[in-house]
Amino acid sequence: MGFSTDAIHAGQSPEPVTGAVTIPIYQTSTYVQPELGRHLGYEYARTQNPTRAALEANIAALEKGKHGRCFASGMSAIDVVFRTLRSGDHVIAGENMYGGSYRLFSRVLEKFGLQFTYVDTSDVEAVRGAMRPNTKIVYLETPTNPMMTVTDIAACSEAAHAGGAIVVVDNTFCSPYLQRPLELGADVVLHSTTKFLNGHSDSVGGVVVSKDDAFAEQVAFLQNAVGAILSPFDSWLVLRGIKTLAVRMKQHEENGRAMAQYLAGNAKVKKVYYPGLPDHPQHELAKRQMNGFGALISFELGSYDNAKTFLDGVRLCSLGESLGGVETLISHPESMTHASVPLGDRTRLGITPGLVRISVGIEDVEDLIADVAAALDRL
Ligand SMILES: *Cc1c(COP(=O)(O)O)cnc(C)c1O
Repeated sequence: MGFSTDAIHAGQSPEPVTGAVTIPIYQTSTYVQPELGRHLGYEYARTQNPTRAALEANIAALEKGKHGRCFASGMSAIDVVFRTLRSGDHVIAGENMYGGSYRLFSRVLEKFGLQFTYVDTSDVEAVRGAMRPNTKIVYLETPTNPMMTVTDIAACSEAAHAGGAIVVVDNTFCSPYLQRPLELGADVVLHSTTKFLNGHSDSVGGVVVSKDDAFAEQVAFLQNAVGAILSPFDSWLVLRGIKTLAVRMKQHEENGRAMAQYLAGNAKVKKVYYPGLPDHPQHELAKRQMNGFGALISFELGSYDNAKTFLDGVRLCSLGESLGGVETLISHPESMTHASVPLGDRTRLGITPGLVRISVGIEDVEDLIADVAAALDRL
């Protein structure tokens, strides 16, 4: 089936009792067992819930994986992936990641003996060179947040597999509509469903999708053992959000391109980071690897004062953390999403006081551009 068909139908057969076309919110903590020693596949709702199971099957289908497991947040999904490791194991991760992932690695997981090396994963040789005998995971985000650097998933997967490691991709920025890492050779894909998958800025959640049965079994075990599950209501919200994922992503994509072109042509903007622009260093790779360039754009305004004047000047674009909602969200990575990254690293990566990131929504793009233009005029 095609992507849109799967988005609407995968994992969701009509409810058997009434034929309800929409999967119900199974708001229950436990299930009655017909007799001792026999149950209907459901024992306790931390372990199994039909609403959550429908969402898990749905996202697994969209990512072309075999198994999906949903969690209470993107961070808890990431955390569970690393709980499959043991003390002393080594991880190679991208040097420019979501700030919360860096915080989890450096301030929580290192305490338990996991070792992390951060490299520029857009350079496959750097990944190859960082491999050690105890490297178990190569952890990628592409495009990166907020610098929009693109990593070659297929090439990194080859390098990782040659050294006995698996590749885990945080695909939150793209959604499976724009990029499917498992088809490119990665082993595990995860998302913050909070962003494009749910798409309506009204739920926090995460998902881990894999194709290997043994790995999936560990994730299922950890989902139950650690317990950071997605609630039935949130599962239902994300299922509802995904029904329109394809049409939303098409509009995000169209608006994103138009906004990037507008920004690139405005003299107040010093630099635009967007893989869809021909001067982006990995533009050709992005064309090959992604089915579009997405709706995330970062741009440099030269100073904190300029960024503040601009951000205080927008009216339609909402200043806030997060991304991937139908509404346009605009943020200041240095003081907001990436405040937990050490200053020296921020500067080296280009996360400057003048950097602004926009998640272009699906409003009328003329209105969005007029809003951005008016705010840039204040500089
Ligand atoms: C938001 C985000 C996360 C964390 O997800 P939460 O749902 O906020 O816990 C992880 N990775 C990326 C790329 C994100 O944008």
